[in-house]
Amino acid sequence: MTINIKLKNFTKNELSCKCACKTYNMDEEFLIRLQAFRYILNMPMTITSAGRCKKHNKSVGGVDTSCHQCETKKATAVDFTCKDLQKAYELARRTELFNEIIWYQKKNIIHLGLDRSQNGLYCEKK
Ligand SMILES: [Zn+2]
Ligand SMILES: [Zn+2]
Repeated sequence: MTINIKLKNFTKNELSCKCACKTYNMDEEFLIRLQAFRYILNMPMTITSAGRCKKHNKSVGGVDTSCHQCETKKATAVDFTCKDLQKAYELARRTELFNEIIWYQKKNIIHLGLDRSQNGLYCEKK
């Protein structure tokens, strides 16, 4: 089922593939979780990467099974930055809205993913 969800804090443009293809294909449940997380976090989030076509995913070093890949399936991941990544990381862990939470400390971004093939919570700082 496809539901057209209007998001208060995110635009289609910022969730589309960052290469010239501009593909938009985000998972609806993931978007509801992302907006819920944004309400709880209560601070602006800058999306640095969301859906990615296969080619772009490869070019940024993403694995074939990446939750970001939005060409053959709907994407269930975003990378973002905000002014308090420590708080964002703790909230992401506590709320369990996502089951893939990776804080790339050198890049200053957090990856939030919903991997339905995976049970339990995967958190990492690297
Ligand atoms: Zn693309
Ligand atoms: Zn990511």
